[in-house]
Amino acid sequence: MAFLQRMQEALPSRHEVKRRRWVFVPYDRLNDRTGPLARLKADEAGIILLESERKGRNRPYHKKKVVVVLSNLRHFALEQLARGVAVLYRHGPESYGEQLLRLQREYALPPIQLALPAERELREDLSLAQKDGLRLDYVEDDAWVSTREDWVRVFGEPQRETPRGGGRESGRQYLMERFYRYMRKKTGLLMKNGKFAGGKLSFDEQNRRRYKGEVRVPRRPSFPPDDITREVIDMLSHNGIETIGTFEGFDLPVTAKDCAAYWRFALEQLLPFFGPYEDAMSAEEPMLFHSAISALMNIGRLLPGEVVADVQAAYEDKRVPLASAEGFIRQIIGWREFMRHIHDVTDGFRTLTQNPDPPGNLTANEYSHLLVKERNRAAPDLPAMPSALNAHLPLPPAYWGVRSGMFCLDTAVGQVLEQGWTHHILRLMVLSNLATLCGFSPRELTDWFWVTYVDAYDWVVESNVLGMATFSDGGLTATKPYVSGAAYIHRMSDYCGRCALNPKQATGPGSCPFTALYWRFLERHEKVLGGNQRMLMPYTTLHRKTDQERAALRERAERAVEQLQRGEVVD
Ligand code: SF4
Repeated sequence: MAFLQRMQEALPSRHEVKRRRWVFVPYDRLNDRTGPLARLKADEAGIILLESERKGRNRPYHKKKVVVVLSNLRHFALEQLARGVAVLYRHGPESYGEQLLRLQREYALPPIQLALPAERELREDLSLAQKDGLRLDYVEDDAWVSTREDWVRVFGEPQRETPRGGGRESGRQYLMERFYRYMRKKTGLLMKNGKFAGGKLSFDEQNRRRYKGEVRVPRRPSFPPDDITREVIDMLSHNGIETIGTFEGFDLPVTAKDCAAYWRFALEQLLPFFGPYEDAMSAEEPMLFHSAISALMNIGRLLPGEVVADVQAAYEDKRVPLASAEGFIRQIIGWREFMRHIHDVTDGFRTLTQNPDPPGNLTANEYSHLLVKERNRAAPDLPAMPSALNAHLPLPPAYWGVRSGMFCLDTAVGQVLEQGWTHHILRLMVLSNLATLCGFSPRELTDWFWVTYVDAYDWVVESNVLGMATFSDGGLTATKPYVSGAAYIHRMSDYCGRCALNPKQATGPGSCPFTALYWRFLERHEKVLGGNQRMLMPYTTLHRKTDQERAALRERAERAVEQLQRGEVVD
């Protein structure tokens, strides 16, 4: 039977609706172990689950991303029905807020409970409906490992005043390490007698081995589409909502049981080797030992607190070595929670100085003023467009699958368009590194990551791309830009041997453009970055280069940018 028909038949009676306490569970909180649902007995709880076509029309998401969200949402509905929870399930063209308001009126529901949504976009959607009469009862979202108080304890209250003409948080710096140090102590994870296990906070320097096939990468379990997933795919194939990528090969877990089984596999088989190869890139083994659970964690199927507790237990049982356990835990209670707070305290980067892509004859500064004026007047929800390095070139066709001839870039893009996922080093040191070096628009890059990655939601993608990856926030989240020449990719991957370009040659035809782009980047941004202590060494090396060397590097870099912009093969 079709899923929505099943939901229709499982509708509670009016009497039953009245008897129960109603909770809205959004698409990214699909569990009954956190939020208001966790505090209710199954036979007194009712949940509202919604599919919004408006959300799908906001941007053309990757097909696999929409399937993993909707199929998990539908399976979650059935799982909750099976344990005795009443379910009101709706699919509609309206926003979440509009659908909730309609349901509240239809059933005369009292204020609907929900955990404060993780996505700013959903918070905005609901607050619009609240203006029209929707009544909600928010509680703190305990799916996170940290709270707003934790952030304030480490960094103090977010800045309220505008310093020297900048945005509210402009000029500040938040270091993940400080936050992570605090979180390790707070949670007691990898702590021994009040000290960090192994005598230090981070084992990052042990996590930089290149992969040469010495350890076999275990085969991942596959979860082929069941009837419900096939129905979702069929719906998406016919509803006229624009998507990208492919449904082909969809095999992600969509039930609570399969999500848990996938995590058990990752913990037992992948985590022991995760640490040493965390930063390695391999053409043969694109996923290496990465758990790739972010898509499931970011919809609430796996909970970060439970996942890190499992890793702690595996470390104590000597099933996972310290460097791997620490590297993984740092990603969860360090980076993941840190990024969520950064997004929160900057209101999705809107409180930073906006230095967006200047249209027509306006300078960036003029446009920035215009934008701020417009924002304050009529458009409170324009996307954040900080760009401390004033990068404004459009994202080139290579990011949408047009062959560039740069093996690392084509491999990363191919993987994303097919799977909706690559591991973090391809995101940071190939896709974002190239965009930052070339001066592609950080906003466009952010939107690209947002639609193409199965695990991207506003709180994580804007923080990672506008913040850490492109230095658009001017150093709020990173002490220096994450940029490198060809040497890093050559050292950490097996890509360069398969590339027509030469990583050891910096200028002239056939040279790898990364190196020339790197020096040109330093040259162009010397005013902003020249005084940065962490950039001292590269600037010293740049200053030792002759005028001819610098001119040749500039020429090589500019030719590569032009070729990329025209959608040509870089040669
Ligand atoms: Fe990438 Fe350059 Fe290596 Fe080619 S040679 S794979 S472009 S880093």
